[in-house]
Amino acid sequence: MIQVFQPNIYLSDYFSVLKNLLKGNISGTSPVIYEFEEQFSKKFDRKYGIAVSNGSVALDIALQAINLEKDDEVIIPSLTIVSVLSAVLRTKARPIFVDVDINTWNTSFEMIKEKITNKTKAIVLVHTYGLSVDLKEVQEYCKEREIIIIEDTAEAHGQQYNEKYCGTFGDISTFSFYANKHITTGEGGILLTDNEDYYNALIQMRNLDFDNTNRFLHQNMYWNYRMSGLQAALGISQLKNMEKTIKQKINQGNNYLRLLENYEDLLQLPLQQTSYSTNHYWVFGVVIKNSTREKRDQISLELKKLGIETRPFFWPLHKQNFLNEEYKPDYLLENTDYLSSSGFYLPLGKQVTSKKQKFIVENLINTIKNVN
Ligand SMILES: *Cc1c(COP(=O)(O)O)cnc(C)c1O
Repeated sequence: MIQVFQPNIYLSDYFSVLKNLLKGNISGTSPVIYEFEEQFSKKFDRKYGIAVSNGSVALDIALQAINLEKDDEVIIPSLTIVSVLSAVLRTKARPIFVDVDINTWNTSFEMIKEKITNKTKAIVLVHTYGLSVDLKEVQEYCKEREIIIIEDTAEAHGQQYNEKYCGTFGDISTFSFYANKHITTGEGGILLTDNEDYYNALIQMRNLDFDNTNRFLHQNMYWNYRMSGLQAALGISQLKNMEKTIKQKINQGNNYLRLLENYEDLLQLPLQQTSYSTNHYWVFGVVIKNSTREKRDQISLELKKLGIETRPFFWPLHKQNFLNEEYKPDYLLENTDYLSSSGFYLPLGKQVTSKKQKFIVENLINTIKNVN
C-alpha cells in the first residue's frame, strides 16, 4: 500500500533524541522544552513559545486564554479539522461558520466580512492544505475592530504569506506536530504570541496551574497539556530540516501537477500559487468534477484495492453530528459542502517516488473514467 503520508525522519533526529534520552531530559519540565520553545519562537520571530501535547490542545487553550463571554461570536472556517470547532464550543462563545473559496480552499476576506457583527470577538484563520489565507485585509479589518486573530498554522509550517512566515500573524498562533505535519514530534504542538498576558495565562494552562509559592495550591482547575522532553528534542532537529521537507513536498506537488495537467475535465487541481503564497502542499488534494460523495468514496475504494491510499477532504464542521441545532447556520456553505464531498488527497512524502507518482496518476485517471 502506498500510504497517504509518512513522516520525514532525519539522521539528526536520532541523535537529538538519543542525546536527550542519555541526559535524562525526558519530562515536560526538562530544559530541552525551553530550548525548543526558544528556537521555535525565534525562527518565527515571536516573543513567546508554549510547547504543548498536541495541536488540538493548542487551539483549546488559545481560545480559553482570550476570555470569551456568552454571546461572543467566533468566526471559523467550516472546511477544517474538528479541533477548531470543539475549541470554540468549550468556551462560552458561539461558532459562526464561514465558507471557503472554491479555488484556494481557504477562506477569504470577503466571506469573513459578511459574517462579522458587533458580537464578533475573535476569528480562527486556518491556512489550509498548503496555501495561506490572504491575510492583509483581514488583519487590517480585525485590528480596526479589535477582533482577536487566532492563527491555526498546523498545516503551514514554513509557509509564507508575502514572504513572511505563517505563524507570525495571529495574536496567538498555533501549530501541530502530528506525524503528518511538515515538522513532527509524533504528537505535539506549540503556541506563539508576542503578548505577555497571554503567555502568562497559557503557561499556567498547560501545567495544572502550578504556583511557585504554594506548590500544591491551585487557583484554577487546569489540566496537564505538557509536551515531553523527547518530543521537544525531536522538534529541535526537525525544525532544522524544515526547508528540506518542504522542498521535497513542493517538488512532488509540482510533479503531480505536470502529470495531471491534461485531465482538467476530470479533476480540479490545487493552485500552484496565488499572488501572496506558493503552494507547499501539506497535502496534494484533487477535486473530482461532476462527482457525489458516493462516487468519490467509490473511487477511493477502488484505488485502495490497487494499493493506493487516499484521504477525503474534511467533513464540514457545520454538519458535525454533535453540533447543537442552535449553532447550525441558517445559510448555505456551498463551496465547503462541494469540496468536502468531491475532494480527496493523494499520497505524498518520501515513500512516493516519481515512478509511484506516475502509477498513482494512471490509476487515478482510469478509475475516475470507470466509476459512475
Ligand atoms: C492537524 C491539525 C490540527 C490538530 O493537530 P493535532 O496535533 O492532531 O491535535 C489542528 N488544526 C489543523 C488545521 C490541523 O490540520
